[in-house]
Formats: sequence, C-alpha cells, structure tokens
Amino acid sequence: MHPSNCLAPVRRAGARMSAWPVCAVWSLIAACGFMPPAFADAPPTGRLPDTAIPLSYALQLTVDPRNARFSGQVRIHVKLTTSLNHLWLHASDIEVAKVTILDAGHHAHKATLTVRDPSGVADVAFGTTLPAQEVELVIDYSAAFNDKLQGLYKVSVGSDAYAVTQMEPTSARYAFPSFDEPRFKTPFDVTLTVPTDEVAVANTQPVKERTSTDGRWKTLTFATTKPLPTYLIAVAVGPWDVLDGPTIAPNSVRKQSVALRGIGPRGTGPEFKWILDQTPMIVKYYEEYTAQPYPFDKLDLLGAPDFGAGAMENAGLIVFRDALLRINANSSASTYRAAFNVNAHEIAHQWFGDLVTVPWWNDIWLNEAFATWAQGKATVDLQPSYSGDLARLESTLGAMRSDTLLSARRIRQPIANFGDIQTAFDGITYQKGAAVLRMFEEWLGEDTYRAAMREYLAAHAYGSGSADDLIATIAKVSGKGEALSKAMHSLLDQPGLPLVRAALNCADGKATVTLQQSRFLPYGVVDPGHPQWSLPACVKFERGANSTTQCFLLDAPQREFPVEGGCASSYLPNANASGYYRFSTPATNLASLGDDLQALSAPEQVIYADAVSSKFIQGESAPGEVLDAMPKLAQSPTPQIATSLLERFAWIRQYLSTDATRPALNAYAAKLYAARAEELGLRRRPADTDATTQLRVRLVEFLAFTTHDPAIRAALVTQGRLALGLADVPGVDLARIDADIRGAALKAAVQDSGEPAFKAVLGELAVNHQTRERYDLLAALGSTHDPGLGEQARDFGATPAVAVGELRYLYLGDVGEPENVGAFWQWLTTHYEALASRLPDQFQPSLINWAAVNRCSKPQADELRNFFTPRLPHIIGGDRVLAQSLESINQCAALRAHVGDDSLATWVAAHSGH
Ligand SMILES: [Zn+2]
Repeated sequence: MHPSNCLAPVRRAGARMSAWPVCAVWSLIAACGFMPPAFADAPPTGRLPDTAIPLSYALQLTVDPRNARFSGQVRIHVKLTTSLNHLWLHASDIEVAKVTILDAGHHAHKATLTVRDPSGVADVAFGTTLPAQEVELVIDYSAAFNDKLQGLYKVSVGSDAYAVTQMEPTSARYAFPSFDEPRFKTPFDVTLTVPTDEVAVANTQPVKERTSTDGRWKTLTFATTKPLPTYLIAVAVGPWDVLDGPTIAPNSVRKQSVALRGIGPRGTGPEFKWILDQTPMIVKYYEEYTAQPYPFDKLDLLGAPDFGAGAMENAGLIVFRDALLRINANSSASTYRAAFNVNAHEIAHQWFGDLVTVPWWNDIWLNEAFATWAQGKATVDLQPSYSGDLARLESTLGAMRSDTLLSARRIRQPIANFGDIQTAFDGITYQKGAAVLRMFEEWLGEDTYRAAMREYLAAHAYGSGSADDLIATIAKVSGKGEALSKAMHSLLDQPGLPLVRAALNCADGKATVTLQQSRFLPYGVVDPGHPQWSLPACVKFERGANSTTQCFLLDAPQREFPVEGGCASSYLPNANASGYYRFSTPATNLASLGDDLQALSAPEQVIYADAVSSKFIQGESAPGEVLDAMPKLAQSPTPQIATSLLERFAWIRQYLSTDATRPALNAYAAKLYAARAEELGLRRRPADTDATTQLRVRLVEFLAFTTHDPAIRAALVTQGRLALGLADVPGVDLARIDADIRGAALKAAVQDSGEPAFKAVLGELAVNHQTRERYDLLAALGSTHDPGLGEQARDFGATPAVAVGELRYLYLGDVGEPENVGAFWQWLTTHYEALASRLPDQFQPSLINWAAVNRCSKPQADELRNFFTPRLPHIIGGDRVLAQSLESINQCAALRAHVGDDSLATWVAAHSGH
C-alpha cells in the first residue's frame, strides 16, 4: 500500500560487515528479485512464538520533523529459548539498512529481515543456526514519518512541524522493529537526536544531553524505563511549548515528589494551566485507592495538534488531542468537563494498564474498563458538580444500546485476527466493562473491592495480569469463591444485555419477588443461544419512610426470593441503577414508579425513563406511552433526567410521524421545553451551575435541530451571524458568543443563512488553529442542506486542509442531517478510495459507521452491504463493523414496520382534544 524502494546494499566505512539487501515492504518482496529463505513455520499473525523473548531494548532515533523521514537503530536483547535459525517480530513500512546478530560469544552474524504478512509480521533470518542463548539483535533502519497518525507520525501547524507517536495497539512496528505484543514488558533505553532548537520528550526524564560539534544537533539520553510493552513507548519532537505544573507532592503512599508538565504546540503553553492544576489531586486519589505510588519518574501531559483517538496513556508521557487539554477564557463548560474526565481516565491507566498490563488483547477490557470505572469514581469524588454518576449512567446506556445487537462483542472477546485487535476498543470494552466492574463493586461493597484491587495490583506490579488473575483475587478476598467467579465470567465471556423481569407477590402480610432473566432483544430479534447469567440484582422496595434495598444473586432462569419488610407500594428492580441489565415490570408498577418519581434518586429516574423506552423498543408499547411519560421528567432541573426520553422522541418523530402528525409532536415538545429554554437563554450566567449549562445546550439543540422550533432557531442564527461577522460587527470572532452554544449557533447560521455563512466558516478554517473551535466549524460546514454547498464541504474534507483527526466532525456533521444521507452516499461511493486511504488502521471501519447514520430500511441496509462487502478484505476490522451496522439498520426498520404510523395518529388525535 505504501510505495517504497528496495534499498541497495549499505556499506559503512569502518563497519565490521556489509549489510544484506533487505526489502522490508511486504508487497515488494517479489519485485526485489531477492527472496530470503522462507521457513517452514507460517508467519504468526496472532501471538508470536515463545522461542525468542525480548529482554530489553536500546532505541536510538534521529528525528527532525521538518524532514520527510527519520532514522534509527534498535538493539534488542533477546533470549532464544531453543536453537533457531530465525525469529519472528514486527516491522511495518520500515526500510532496513542492516541487521546483525551478536551471539553470546560476541560473534557477529549477518542477518536479514523480511516482512511476511501485511500486518507487519517479519522474520529475521540468522544465516546460521544458533543454540539457545541470549543474543543482541541490532537493526539499522529508516522510515517515512507516518501520515495516518500511527507509529511515529508528523503533523504540521502553519509552518511548524511536530513528530508524535501513537503505538497502541499495533503501531510501534511502524516506528521501530519490535516484538509488538503487550505481554513482552522490558526496560527501554531511549536516545533522541534532534535539531538543537527543538524540544524532545520521552517516557522518562533525560539524564544526559550532548550537542554535535557543528552545533546543529543535540542528543538526549533518557533514563531507563520501568518494564514497558511496546505500545506504551512514546516520544515527541518539535517546537513545543512546555509549561511546568505544580509538583506532585509526596504523600503517605509515595516518598518522592513527581515533576508535572504540560506540553503543547507553540504558543499554547498557558492554556495547559487549568488541567495541570487539577492533576496532583487525581494522582493522589489513585495512589490512596491503590496503595501504590505513581509508578513512573515524571508525568507529562502532551496535547498533540492532531491525534487519532482522544488520548493515549503512554507511561509518564500521556498524549491527548490538544483540544481536550487547552483551556482559555473562551472555553465551554463542556471543555472543562471533558478535560477533567479524559485526564482522570489516562492517569488511571498509569496503574491499570501501565503498571499492570494485559498479556494479550482479549483482555484489553482490563485496561479500558478499569480506567473508565476508576475515572468515574474519581470524577464523582473530586468534582461533584460534574454529576459524574449520571454521566457514567448515560455511557452505560449507550453500551446497552450496542449490546442489543446479536453481533455485539463480548467484553472479553477472543482475538482471532489482526482486525479483532483493531475493533476491540469499543463501547462494550469501555462502558459495559466499567458498568460490570461497578455492579460487582456494589455487590461486594467498596471496602472489599478496594482490598481486592490492591492485592491484584501489588501481585502483578510492573508485570502482567489477566482477567483470570483478577477474578481469582476478587473471589478470594471477598470470600465468595466460585459464585463470584461464575458470575463475573457470565458477564465477561458472553455477549448481550440481560433483561430482568421482576414481579412482587404479596399475600398474608408476606412478600416475595420473582426474578426471571433472558437476553434483552429489540422487537423481532431472536437469540438462538438463550444466554444465561449469574447476575447480582438489587431491588428497591418503596414503603415511604421504610423503603429498603435488597440484593439477590439471580443464578437461574427464574428464582423467587423472600422480601424483608413485607409488601411495598412500588419497587424498582435496579436499585441506584447500579446493575448492568434492563428490567421489565408489570404496567401497574411502572405507572406507580412514574407517579412518584421524587422517591427515586436521579440515576433511578433516568433508568425509569430507560425502562419506558425499552418497552417501546421491544415492541410492547405504543408511542403514546413514551410521549405520555415525558411531562413527568421534562421539568427536572437535572439535564440527564429532563432529556431522558428525547432520543426516543426523536426516533418517533423521524420514523413514525407524517406531515399530518408532525406539527402536533413539535407543539408538544415546545409546550414541554420551549419556555424553559427561553428562560435559560443563550449565554452562560455567572450563577449557572454545570448542570444548568448542560441543560441549556441540550434543550437548545433539541428544539433547534429536532423539532425545528422557529424562535430558537432564529435566536441561534443571530448568534451565529454575530460570530461570523455577518451582523453589525464585521470579521469573524467566535469569542463574541457563548462557547457552549457555539456549535449550535454556527450550524444554525450555516443552515439558515446559506452561502455567506458557509464562506465565512470556510475562511475562518484557513486561519483558526484552536482545535476545538475547528471541530465546531467543520461540523457546521458539513451540516448545510444546500446541495451545492454540501458538495463543496465534502470535497473540502478530501484536502489536506482538514486534518485526519478532524474528518469525523465534518462528515458526521454532514450525514447527521437526515436530509443529507443520499447526497453523502453519492459522494462517498465516488470518493471512497481517497478518503479511506487517509484513515489509520484502527479507524478504517469509520466510513461504514458514518454511512450507516440515519438509515432505517432494508433497501438502505442492502445498499451498504452491496458496496462494502467486496471491499472488506481491504478494511481492517470491517467485517464486524459492517455486520453491526446492518443489524442496527434492520432492527430500526423492523420496529418501524411493527409500530406503524397509525398508533401515533391515534395519540395525536386523542391529545389534540386536551
Ligand atoms: Zn483508555
């Protein structure tokens, strides 16, 4: 895929030997006219064999981001556990100049490196057979800076160039030949040679600096790392701004202080102050929880001007999208929240993932579920105003949605191929995994759980730990043994969302509750597997002042449990919303819960709404039941409660309403929300809480873009025009309007003001380097409904003016408009190759995801299937994503056909009489 030339033999004066001609680019092996011996063993595209184990690395890189290429030498100390004439490792898009094996007797052997599989599996042939021993493998090489945000890649801001790394999961092989697998944790000695005027950072503190005789280059030697897997190695070089943060002071767990710094593109240093100030308390929080000191010798938070994911937990050098960390006078409340949350997630990884690492990708949930769960705890405890409990619950509900697909992954998914590794980082791994951890925490109690976590981390510190290790520790510490183990495995090792049907039986002053389990499935879907779980389920029994919560282990298809305290006026089958399951309960009980919402906690009110919505998804209720439940929730000051049924409302409106019924739905929404939105206005007020700010954004966006409320839209357009210089004051200045409604205002202006607004946005994108503002500008650009401008926006995304990490904002802004689905598809099918070639390995299936948005019919599913199926061999991980997208579209179509539009018409007719 990446053109490269086979190198001529390289000779160096004074070198002890000349190198072999080596072609490290898989697709060019045949063209080289040089074919090293093929070995009897097939390339290991899964795990590497245990016959060669890396013990340590010395990595020397010469990096000038202003150039197109970098060069390096990697020396790997390798233990051969048996006699071998070759070993397997990884290298991708690397041009090898010379390979040498130094055996235990210090004899040098010429070797060759040949890539044998497109995923970067390479063999190193020794040219001789070596008995079991420790050897040193020395590889001199060079490579182009990656242009897809993986390995060692380059990104430019104006005339400045930066080099940054992103290795997880399998991109270290683009930066240096390596045993690129998480179980191989070794110390690394990193040395960087960079231009004298640039800043270079790595995982550890520099211990030595030397300048070249001509003064143009400096060489930094960094302290030997703790044992790390290749995917946690990081370096960055460029004209970075460095801002010293507060030192992380010693405490009862840690004796040494830890240096903290923020690192960002030139000129952005001061914008890191807020996040740096938050960081010491987060580090301390995890130290106290884990009883393990922060594991590394310093902590740098680096904001990269372009980045594929949100952030990456490299040991001691966390790399973020800079948009997540940069906070200035015009930052939105949501920017603060996101910065805190993502930072808490990545710092949690320094223990969960970095200190203790998973041996193989099937357990990547251990990293991600743990970091997500720990981040939730930290946010709830350290920033109560962010309502972390509700944010966490909304994430869980998101994972539940994807878990209703028969093609959903398990939390602990077997890894069969390279594509499985790339698609392992989904909502099931993160949010379902975190929800399951929390469910067991609630069941066992916080103290027991903490004790188990501490024991697990201590036992595996600086090494590896698997799910089996963790479960064994929790089972032992909790004293629950086999029951705990069975319950955890039932949630980790099979896919699907449990449904608990609960019924309370009262007679003669005594009460029992019957709990039944099955897989939650949307209307028309049948799971031939009939999975069963061993499920901790807590039920809250309402009795006024004598309400109680009782927890049960539902370890059979159905069980009846005695209820302490007797009968209850109503009961909530998921107390505190802490269980990973949906529930169903007789209509009378659901109605009682709705009639006394104030008796429920905020998370419980949200899952009450979810139960109303779930019933509809199962095809067991009419739209009217959802619509009638809305007024009870709409007036809540808590945004997550007030808007808890808006997604279902939007679905009903989009897929069931007609020209005859739509005006009534819009009017209904306006009656519930417009006065509130108007009262909140379009600007944050000094006294606004974080919740108020969130409520404002949610209501404004709902009314403007779902029900097209004319007054709200007009007000937003005014704000958008003000920012874009189309009102009284000329020139674009986004700071003229409220940062939280900026995205909505720009979008409304582009949609309603046509070409002048579109042109102003396009002009601003040419000069604006505030990443988060760029996301809003790009999303607004994509959202135009004008066919000609839409075409311009799509073409713009295919130019280098839109960074790789920005593409999703533009195209999701586009296809997020139901009006644009056809035009986007037309464009995508003719520009597919150009767009696909820009995406990193891990994000290759994004185009399938984007194309699936706003589709809800079988022909629309078929269109996707027909286009993507022949292309699947070239889309890493595409088969799973396509299967999930098609299933999701077909589920939507089945529900739509089942409900029909008559039932909505009936509700509208009955409602218009009010
Ligand atoms: Zn993570």
